[in-house]
Amino acid sequence: MSKKLANNIKVRFAPSPTGPLHIGGARSALFNWLYARHHGGTFIVRIEDTDLERSSRESEENILSSLRWLGLDWDEGIAAGGPNGPYRQTERLHIYKQYAAKLLEEGHAYYCYCSEEELAAERESLLAKGELPRYLGRCRDLCDADRDRLAAEGRKPVLRFRVPEGKTVTVDDQVRGEVSFETNGIGDFIIVKSDGIPTYNFAVVIDDHSMGISHVIRAEEHLSNTPRQILIYQALGWVIPAFAHISLILGKDRSKMSKRHGSTSIVQYQELGYLPEAMVNFLALLGWSPGGEEEIFSLDEIKDQFSLDRVAKNPAVFDLEKLNWLNGHYIRQSDLERITELSIPFLRQGGYVTGEMTPDKYQWVRMLVSTVRNYLANLSEINTHVEKFFVETVEPADEETREVLRQEKVVLVLNTLRDKINSTRDLDEETIKAALKSLGKELGLKGKQVFMPLRVALTGEMHGPELYQVIPLLGKEKTVKRLEYAMSKI
Ligand code: GLU
Repeated sequence: MSKKLANNIKVRFAPSPTGPLHIGGARSALFNWLYARHHGGTFIVRIEDTDLERSSRESEENILSSLRWLGLDWDEGIAAGGPNGPYRQTERLHIYKQYAAKLLEEGHAYYCYCSEEELAAERESLLAKGELPRYLGRCRDLCDADRDRLAAEGRKPVLRFRVPEGKTVTVDDQVRGEVSFETNGIGDFIIVKSDGIPTYNFAVVIDDHSMGISHVIRAEEHLSNTPRQILIYQALGWVIPAFAHISLILGKDRSKMSKRHGSTSIVQYQELGYLPEAMVNFLALLGWSPGGEEEIFSLDEIKDQFSLDRVAKNPAVFDLEKLNWLNGHYIRQSDLERITELSIPFLRQGGYVTGEMTPDKYQWVRMLVSTVRNYLANLSEINTHVEKFFVETVEPADEETREVLRQEKVVLVLNTLRDKINSTRDLDEETIKAALKSLGKELGLKGKQVFMPLRVALTGEMHGPELYQVIPLLGKEKTVKRLEYAMSKI
């Protein structure tokens, strides 16, 4: 149900369910959500499914579930209900029909019987003359007899909007400033197709008006549609909402963001183990910035600071490294239990966790996650970092690493730790820390001389998790075995 809200700010996200929720759509949804929540307004989610062939319920479900995953709730609309429903365009055909009839009756629209071939020929000839392809109005002034004759030929008409000639339509855009369009370049456009289904430009106006939308915040690619929509508002005598068109998202090579630049749908990021708070933080910075150096923001903090004034006009650049950096940050900061829960499915996939999750197993997995999460850009990477804890023996990763084991006193270090481990009952963090400290003291060696060979013997690497994390994870048997294996190779 819709909540009672303090003011008349009402925004909407109106996706076409023709695929999963993409980065660009998610950003539009987020900016609308932020605007509504910042101002205590209403956020609507409705579905633009007039492209019957490409729309599906599956895509709709995907979009809604990605919105929920991102933490973007809505007050009114699809699945939430409210006083202005239905919220799916194919269920609103009766509403569009009334307004189409009104526009027809008042002369703002007319039936057009032109065939595909006729339109294609017109297009070709305009292009050949170097002109913008547009409809030149062949059916603008048909008389009844003409219409009867064309209908008798079996032609099914579309309804076109009669674009007034010689006018300038100015969009007063909250992000881009005033942008003007000449009506002469527009051409009479279709508002209802021959199958009775309205087109986007028509249905969106009816919906935005009848749902009381105050601000239309959407992607820049719709800016060129806006003059058409404004003309419909004017024809119906309706108040025009405020518009804000947010910039394109480009890949790092400055071409339009596409699959070539990495995953484009939100669910793909979810499946790779990106956290919603990292996605939201990242999406917000695609075109918005609060000023200053800070880049880490919770949804709540962004909401408090959000304004359209700080939305950039120039294109946003999708930088996967930045997303990885943010996600790594949130993986390290988050509650360990949560990261463990989220990691388990990946570990199962990798075969590193099998069977029933017993409390002991869970404790071990938790320790494992705590040890490796520092190195992850996303949770699906976890398997490459845990492998070393599962294999029987490890080899030094490269020649430089191998060299560490050739230094003086290495056997002494490995051997002493082996003895200490053998005589220790509980291999917990504190005991290991103490054992390592006393080992250095007893042998009169400095930290690095102790830790390096041990780390190489136990993990095969020179860098990585702390030994007091590694040893409890490996357990007594594996630790001793690895130390002995390393000694046998020296
Ligand atoms: N259905 C349109 C889209 O997905 C929405 C356009 C609008 O917000 O007006 O791009």
